[in-house]
Amino acid sequence: MTYKIAVLPGDGIGPEVIEQTVDVLKIISNKYDKEFIFKYALMGGCAIDKYGEPLPGETVDICKSCDAVLLGAVGGPKWDSLPGNKRPEAGLLGIRASLGLFANLRPAVIYNALKGASPLREDIVKHGIDIIVVRELTGGIYFGDRGRTVESGVNAAYDTEKYNVNEVERIARVAFDAALKRNRKVTSVDKANVLESSRLWRETVIKVSEEYPQVELNHMYVDNAAMQLIRRPQQFDVILTSNMFGDILSDESSMITGSIGMLPSASLGTGTLGLYEPIHGSAPDIAGQNKANPIATILSAAMLLRYSFGMENAARDIENAVVKVLDKGYRTGDIAADAGSSVGTVEMGSLIKKELKMA
Ligand code: NAD
Repeated sequence: MTYKIAVLPGDGIGPEVIEQTVDVLKIISNKYDKEFIFKYALMGGCAIDKYGEPLPGETVDICKSCDAVLLGAVGGPKWDSLPGNKRPEAGLLGIRASLGLFANLRPAVIYNALKGASPLREDIVKHGIDIIVVRELTGGIYFGDRGRTVESGVNAAYDTEKYNVNEVERIARVAFDAALKRNRKVTSVDKANVLESSRLWRETVIKVSEEYPQVELNHMYVDNAAMQLIRRPQQFDVILTSNMFGDILSDESSMITGSIGMLPSASLGTGTLGLYEPIHGSAPDIAGQNKANPIATILSAAMLLRYSFGMENAARDIENAVVKVLDKGYRTGDIAADAGSSVGTVEMGSLIKKELKMA
């Protein structure tokens, strides 16, 4: 069995964390006797430098010809002054849209060994946290009509939040399907007390929920959800929400777990082709210094194996190897209580690979 994986290392710490992750996938390939073919391509600032655009057509073609896409991170100060559609981050929106990836899944899990890293009080995190945020990814305000105008001589700007029923139905189904494999609870987050688009969202989610009688559905306004995530995160299982609310809430849920360097994500469409990436950015402040935590990207590879290749056991092998390394006390700087005793990117990668080989 052969699988093709498009690899987009990107900018900043992207290539560093991707290098460790590709090594991990090579070990899985040997262990499970599957051939993985890695096809490297440029996206983000590195693509701007070479081709003058963040997402060259060739990169899209490579991704489309593969079974899954593994992405590091894009962006950095070098490209910050470029206009919006020429910036590295435009590549991210572009590749998601080109591949029809409308669902973003972001687990936020508190590891036993890292409970102390959460900024929340011990009595709030002691029962653990295991949430998955299902965020709509190709609609809403990030893709709506926008522009600049002048009103009575004053400069103004606008962005438009718009969803249609089909967009809401398909993301709702992803959330309900995910809930079926977990604790069977969906919290749909909106702002239906103010926004018309949220009222359509809510009506549609309620309709879809009728197909899933086994799953409990509740609704929460986004401002309340932001509070409840901090007050009692255990009340959540699957959070279903729009593009912008999901952007914010998934970062909040990652923060309560302790480190942005630990959290993976998957972006899925209707087929099995998915894009897998850490939730963090290119961290220009630590790029090239062997300081980046590679775990978020390595766990993204676990999601890739689970969702695109159906290799559940291999995914668990990787997740268990990460837990073992953390339980042994190894930490990168971002999750270390005492930065002086931390290990670097390469060392953390090697420790995980060693555990994987022993498993
Ligand atoms: P960031 O996630 O890159 O960094 C935020 C902070 O977290 C920094 O202090 C960084 O050192 C730290 N950090 C992030 N990942 C880490 C890791 N794996 N290990 C250890 N520490 C880590 O966010 P930012 O600083 O807001 O953005 C930097 C650049 O990344 C910007 O150009 C931004 O547009 C881009 N960005 C890209 C993506 C993406 O590619 N998906 C996502 C977010 C931001």
